[in-house]
Amino acid sequence: MEGFLSRLDPNIIMDQSIQLAKHAEFKTAPDPMVGSILVTSDGTVLSQGYYLQAGKPHAEVITLKHLFAIPENAILFIPLEPCSFQKTGQSCTDLMIKKKIKYVCIGCRKIN
Ligand SMILES: [Zn+2]
Repeated sequence: MEGFLSRLDPNIIMDQSIQLAKHAEFKTAPDPMVGSILVTSDGTVLSQGYYLQAGKPHAEVITLKHLFAIPENAILFIPLEPCSFQKTGQSCTDLMIKKKIKYVCIGCRKIN
């Protein structure tokens, strides 16, 4: 993993995911703004997305839903820990497992 991340700067990718999230400023309340970016080990962006507005699919879903062949070494960057429970359907964690995402870099953990 050490050599794996040495080819890209995780701080830059995480900052880009935060900038993406800002596209939905004032639209996500009471939820936080969240962006996500899926990159290869050399930093090539494979997909990205952000939480559009409250009640809409989460950033991770937007980023991953249309991808069917995800490289084994892809890393998903998300400023906030992904949800692991959804009353109305699949959680983002479930989707990541289904899509076989092995590496996830989060900015912070959720309190709840
Ligand atoms: Zn989620």
